[in-house]
Order: sequence, then C-alpha cells, then structure tokens
Amino acid sequence: MEKQRFARWLRQVSVLTRRQRLQLMDGLRPAVGMDRVCEAIAGADPDPCCPLCQARRSYRHGHSRGLQRYRCRACGKTFTALSGTPLSRLRHRAKWLDCLGKMLDAKSVRASAKAVEVHRNTSFRWRHRFLALAKHDRPQRLAGIAEADELFLLESQKGSRKLDRPARRRGGVASTRGISREHVCVLVARDRTGGTHDFITGRGAFTKDQLHLHLLPVLDPDVLLVTDGHPAYLGWQWALDGARIATPEQFLRTAIGVFNT
Ligand SMILES: [Zn+2]
Repeated sequence: MEKQRFARWLRQVSVLTRRQRLQLMDGLRPAVGMDRVCEAIAGADPDPCCPLCQARRSYRHGHSRGLQRYRCRACGKTFTALSGTPLSRLRHRAKWLDCLGKMLDAKSVRASAKAVEVHRNTSFRWRHRFLALAKHDRPQRLAGIAEADELFLLESQKGSRKLDRPARRRGGVASTRGISREHVCVLVARDRTGGTHDFITGRGAFTKDQLHLHLLPVLDPDVLLVTDGHPAYLGWQWALDGARIATPEQFLRTAIGVFNT
C-alpha cells in the first residue's frame, strides 16, 4: 500500500470498536504467522547446504513462498532451507509455530487443533513429524550435575493380537492402583546445560542393573548424578531438550537443523 494511504488507514485503527479490532487481529494472524515462521526458518542456518550435492557454496536467488531461495554454485540447483526435508510439503505453514507452541504447553492434539483451527488429523500429523525430527537433537554425553527421573506411562498394547491382560475401556486407568506391570517406565536424565537422554527400561519400576545399563554409557566419568524419589510428569518436553527448546521458534529450528548438520 502507498505510504500516505497507509498512514491514513493506520490512524483509523484508533476509532475501531472492540469487535472490529478483534476482526482486524484475526485478519492479520495468517500473515503474521507466516512472517514468524519464515524468520525462524531463515535463522536456522544462514548458509544452508545444497540438498542435492551437499555443497555449501550457494548464492541468494530470489524468494519462494516467503523463504529465501538459493542457487548452488556446484550443481546449479535452486533450493530453500526446507527443500529435501520432510517439512517441505507440509501445508498451512503460517500455523506451524502456533501449533508447536501448544505442544510445548503440553496441550492435547484436539485442544491444539481447535486453538490453531486445523483438523485434528493435521494437528496429530504435525506433532509426530516435528517430534520425530527434534528427538534426534541429543547430546552425546551428560556432564556436570545430572538429574535422573522416572516417568511411568500406561503401556499401550494397541495393535497386539493377544492382550496379556483384560482390555482397558477408553485406555486410561490401570487395573490396580500405583505402579504395576501395566506401566512402562521411561528413564529421563538431564544435565544442567539441558542435555537430555531418555530410555524405555521396560515394565514396572526400573532396577539398578537397568540404570547402569542405560545411564553409564552416556554419563561423563566425573558427573554427579542426583535422583529424586518423586517421579515427575514431564509432559511432552521429556522428549525434547527443555532448556534449549523453550519457544516454538527454537523447536522449529531444531527440527530443521537435523537436516542441515
Ligand atoms: Zn548442489
């Protein structure tokens, strides 16, 4: 829009009714979401490598759907930071960050879908696509002071031909109180830099042998391991590096980063 006309238009904003302001916000949301997501993607890797020949010799070559496009000097192919990633064909890009934000707040698939206004199948698909990408972002070893905690989840036998227990109705409650053989134990260990490892140790509470088997290989020899007797519910973030992935933008960059390193 021409500068003076925009200034006139902007002055009108102050006389809008509350209802009109809300309508305006709704109208701006897709474009703002798109700007945010493009900015986060651009910040993931300022010098992305070519998805075809892996060369890092490229130059800027226009834009494609809001993203910087590059041309590879080695093979001549054009690409963006998303080319060749499982995210390149994912639709509704403007809503990704809002949806990732809901995931970080440990909102359910349905609640996220409703808030972001996408179908629940879309919300489910995005959740798994992004988590699958981000979970590769693991440190090699934990160092300094590390904390280990256990997380018990009811085991799902969905898809099993034979259940070794009576079927649960609506999935949620164990047949006995407390931790039992129906629970799968996930051991989560995190150091003070936010480096996180998790292991499925099997049914019921884990044993000292399992602790040694899973944790020792990833612990620095000088690490001080602190454990807490109270298993905490860590939500979705247990799979992620909570200290470094605090915002949807960081989450998105982590997911893309897997393909650019
Ligand atoms: Zn190339």
